[in-house]
Amino acid sequence: MRIDAHTHILSLAENAEFTAEYGREGSLCIYRSLGMLPTHRLPTEEEWEKSGFSRKGFPVIGPQESIRDHPGFDKIVVLAVSPQFLDGEMIGTVDSYGITDVPGPSTPEKCNDYIAAVVRSNPDVFIGFASVNPNYRGPKKAVQELERAVNDLGLTGLKLYPMYQDWSPADPVIAFPVFEKAEELGIPVLVHQAGSTRVDARMEHANPVLLDAAGRHFPDMKLIIAHCGIPWIHEALFMLTKHPNFYTEISYHIATVTREGLYRFLWDAKQFFVPLEKIFFGTDYPGFLYDPVRLSEKLMTVNEEARRMGTPEIPEHELEGIMGDNFARLLGLIPD
Ligand SMILES: [Zn+2]
Repeated sequence: MRIDAHTHILSLAENAEFTAEYGREGSLCIYRSLGMLPTHRLPTEEEWEKSGFSRKGFPVIGPQESIRDHPGFDKIVVLAVSPQFLDGEMIGTVDSYGITDVPGPSTPEKCNDYIAAVVRSNPDVFIGFASVNPNYRGPKKAVQELERAVNDLGLTGLKLYPMYQDWSPADPVIAFPVFEKAEELGIPVLVHQAGSTRVDARMEHANPVLLDAAGRHFPDMKLIIAHCGIPWIHEALFMLTKHPNFYTEISYHIATVTREGLYRFLWDAKQFFVPLEKIFFGTDYPGFLYDPVRLSEKLMTVNEEARRMGTPEIPEHELEGIMGDNFARLLGLIPD
């Protein structure tokens, strides 16, 4: 089974221009490294326009576009983004273009309703993860929203964004009530416990080691570290070594390494005593550089590097596991 365990959909702000700007600023480091923008300061609007990364032309991804860009995939995990403030603007998953059947004005407060509607549009393909922000209206409201998202809307898992929302996953007052509810509901929790290239991101809340407290207190919660904790890859792997209920997905990280680097990462994981069945394929589609086809080919041809270097190959069934069977097993789609 082929599964993309990390994708986004619809828009990120009611203000479409703000969504475009957000995406553009997140990829600033890439444009800068290509020599298209100044390396030592933030670009001016004129420099942005000249570089070709203007405010226009940011595609809106709906269910059809996501399926079109995932040929050969059986399942696509769509992640909600819960309400949060950035530069005084409320952002989060919205349906600014009326793609879903959710009625009324578009607002990030309905992020989980939009994701549920995407799943309804094609339940065979889409797997919906809710999102709550305990720093928005407090942990109590976040817990209620999580219950609603799972019990009423039928969503499958939870996505959390501590570093974007300025809270620590080690904070017992803010974070633990959410973990406790997720453990009780028996849903997997995917945490963006990794860096972000946005200048405003709060790296002090981003390290995967901050999940150790959750690992100690909630041993029955299935916790997935997003992006393999990039740039703290080894810290993330160590968390998987330590906590039997921890997993990771490799979106973003897989785009930043060469195929040889990907082979070495998988080999290193084994040396870290991390069974590869704890690792899931993901892309962070529709972000820049995150083409599901190219990235899945990178993974599935990784043994060409082993043959070239004369080093041990990764068994084919382990690669197939990362490509989707491991995640399907976690969700109970195929037997354990
Ligand atoms: Zn993402």
